[in-house]
Amino acid sequence: MAQLSLDSVTKRFGNVLAVEDVTIDIDDGEFLVLVGPSGCGKSTTLRTIAGLETASSGDIRLGDTSLTGKRPKERDIAMVFQSYALYPHMTVRENMAFGLEESTDLAADAIQRKVEDAAELLDITELLDRKPGELSGGQQQRVALGRAIVRDPEVFLMDEPLSNLDAKLRAEMRTELQRIQEDLDTTTVYVTHDQTEAMTMGDRIAILDGGQLQQVGTPLEVYHQPANQFVAGFIGEPSMNFFEMEVQGDRLAGEQFPYPLSAEHREAVGDATRVTLGIRPEDVELVPAVETDHDFETVVDVVEPMGDENVVYLSFAADEEHAFVATVDGMRSIDAGQPAVARFPEEAIHLFDTVTGEALANRSLDRLETTEPEL
Ligand code: ATP
Repeated sequence: MAQLSLDSVTKRFGNVLAVEDVTIDIDDGEFLVLVGPSGCGKSTTLRTIAGLETASSGDIRLGDTSLTGKRPKERDIAMVFQSYALYPHMTVRENMAFGLEESTDLAADAIQRKVEDAAELLDITELLDRKPGELSGGQQQRVALGRAIVRDPEVFLMDEPLSNLDAKLRAEMRTELQRIQEDLDTTTVYVTHDQTEAMTMGDRIAILDGGQLQQVGTPLEVYHQPANQFVAGFIGEPSMNFFEMEVQGDRLAGEQFPYPLSAEHREAVGDATRVTLGIRPEDVELVPAVETDHDFETVVDVVEPMGDENVVYLSFAADEEHAFVATVDGMRSIDAGQPAVARFPEEAIHLFDTVTGEALANRSLDRLETTEPEL
């Protein structure tokens, strides 16, 4: 049983509160991604799970056993770092076997079998007799993974393991790592600052900011139902558009446009007086003419053709810097400088309390649910 539980884990370094009261239950076999901006406490959380740091307070449990007080070697946890930390004078085979030789009393042939099985899983069998200096970055990364896999641990901890690879290789290794983790079914905590990795790899994502846990949820939950404005802005590329508005009766008044609210949204706003309206770039529609009171006259500032889509930067007046971003079909012809009518459909908007950042209302998922293909 390898359920990993963090129970109110706090870690201080002198005056710095690196991790504050973090509670997460990670299921047996789950792939949990810890994500957040630089300095948010991701690595410290991971190092505390590994036993490389001691929590200032709180407890970490593996199954029913508390890990508090146990040394890293006693934790049945294998860690893969961003720097592969391979021994340059040893072959791949020796690098992978070394940890087992040191920490177990397995017979030499049993160790070799484990090394060869892991090498096959990682598709590096033909590299076993090479030294790290004779390998590409991606191959070295596989060896580093292999070294963790042979230990057959209860938990893998991975700290930005793909960040030294180029973009194409990183995308390949993302898929590969997911396959391996699914095959092995080992509970995994994976740290990254890259929201794309988080979205594509995690069964669930835990988002940290300033040492505090902001939300834990599946990729689609955190994308469509963010708990607060930080999560809404962090997850998604290009980021969600935000407009600070004032509540005036049953509408929002902003510097650039007014936004009438439905009764449902008005109720969700409650007593808040300042509200931030959020809308994802793909939910902004560029329509031929103003037809509803959620349509606004704008000017195209810059167009970035990405092939499959155009990323369109728009402003509310010709002499203004761009105010928001829309992503539209790549085949659609749109030129900088031309006027455009932007529609912010009410079912797609998010509303946040401007003061606290808390989500007051998230986008409706009705449309998403009804467009799901039947299998
Ligand atoms: P990055 O993505 O940049 O690696 P991170 O989210 O992993 O960042 P941590 O390395 O966990 O962040 O650091 C969290 C906070 O704790 C930061 O403010 C950092 O400066 C501080 N910190 C980390 N390690 C130490 C240490 N050994 N002594 C003092 N402060 C530390």
